[in-house]
Amino acid sequence: MRGFELYDAATVKEAVDLLGKYSGRAVKVVGGGSDIVGGVMKDWVQGKGMPLPEVLIDITTIKDMVGIKTDGGGTTIGAATTLTDVIDNKDLSTKLPVLTNAALSVASPLIRNFGTLGGNINQRPRCWFFRGEDFNCYKKGGDFCYAVTGDNRYHAIIGGELCYIVHPSDTATALLALNASAKIAGTGGERTVSFDEYFTGPRVDVLRENVLKNSTNGGATEFMTHVTIPNPAGGTKFGWTKLKDRQVYDFALVSVARPVPRQGRRGRPQGQGHQGDREVRGRTDPERRASDEPELLQGGPRAGSHRADDPRGAGLVAAIGAATFGSPPRDPSQALARSRF
Ligand SMILES: Cc1cc2nc3c(=O)[nH]c(=O)nc-3n(C[C@H](O)[C@H](O)[C@H](O)COP(=O)(O)OP(=O)(O)OC[C@H]3O[C@@H](n4cnc5c(N)ncnc54)[C@H](O)[C@@H]3O)c2cc1C
Ligand code: SF4
Repeated sequence: MRGFELYDAATVKEAVDLLGKYSGRAVKVVGGGSDIVGGVMKDWVQGKGMPLPEVLIDITTIKDMVGIKTDGGGTTIGAATTLTDVIDNKDLSTKLPVLTNAALSVASPLIRNFGTLGGNINQRPRCWFFRGEDFNCYKKGGDFCYAVTGDNRYHAIIGGELCYIVHPSDTATALLALNASAKIAGTGGERTVSFDEYFTGPRVDVLRENVLKNSTNGGATEFMTHVTIPNPAGGTKFGWTKLKDRQVYDFALVSVARPVPRQGRRGRPQGQGHQGDREVRGRTDPERRASDEPELLQGGPRAGSHRADDPRGAGLVAAIGAATFGSPPRDPSQALARSRF
């Protein structure tokens, strides 16, 4: 691993000033560092569209970005709050257990103790070509997607174009179902973006997975400061399920988060922060989306998708059933067996 400079920011403004000061170099913000330091900053995970970071700005030292506040208007979580603090928060587990359960399903207790919510949402893809040596793929600024002809287990079964990653974050799946928004700060000022608009597909820019702006050399100019979640409509319950290959800590094969309003699936609940009968799938496509598309609710990968024959379609059916009706798949091991290659 190459050396890097590390700066602690005490305030959001200080972090923004540091981003501006080092904008001529490859600069990134760092949360717990479990992904960027341990995974992405290996000498071989680079390319002309993805220079190795030279400067890291630590945002866990910003007090305003750590902690969880709930009031009558909703919930605000600092992006530098650890996943363990999200899981342990009693207000969250009472009001928004779908987020608690999603966070609890992430990685191991050790990683959750220092991995942050912002880091989990903004972590880079797990595609083994992207993280592997000798694969100068589109996402690193190269001119090929090795998943098209190579081993593309765990890649997109829905959508995907140019690049076929699946977005890895479990908490993002729950936050989309909760109709959350991201507060963003950067050298161009502050803005708020709904999670529906936050994640972007490869056609928008194959070098990134979200709307956060970069400088021309790939350095960050913006970062997420907080996540805000409106109060769900009264009586709404949320289903969450995650199917995994290994029954220890693991990324999802597929996951589903969905609200189940009190009136039933066809009801149109009134209330703040609800967009109807939306369903959010995790680990099926590059661009995170809430969906009410009928063919997805029936569980089949969309015709013409990159891997329409992928047996994770069966796992998706089981996951949707479990998230909708609140019970685990009748035989999850069968769903998983069919999901293996
Ligand atoms: C063995 C293992 C198993 C795992 N299993 C799962 C799993 O099942 N589900 C899952 O969801 N994840 C899983 N992960 C990923 C893990 O959850 C992430 O590594 C972690 O959450 C990242 O948090 P961090 O604070 O350490 O991020 P960092 O490493 O600090 O940052 C990750 C990325 O996000 C960017 N970033 C960090 N904070 C912000 C911010 N506030 N605004 C903008 N950009 C930011 C950084 O620049 C970097 O690119 C696993 C990881 C490992 C190593
Ligand atoms: S799926 Fe994306 S990240 Fe993986 S090899 Fe193809 S272009 Fe690279």
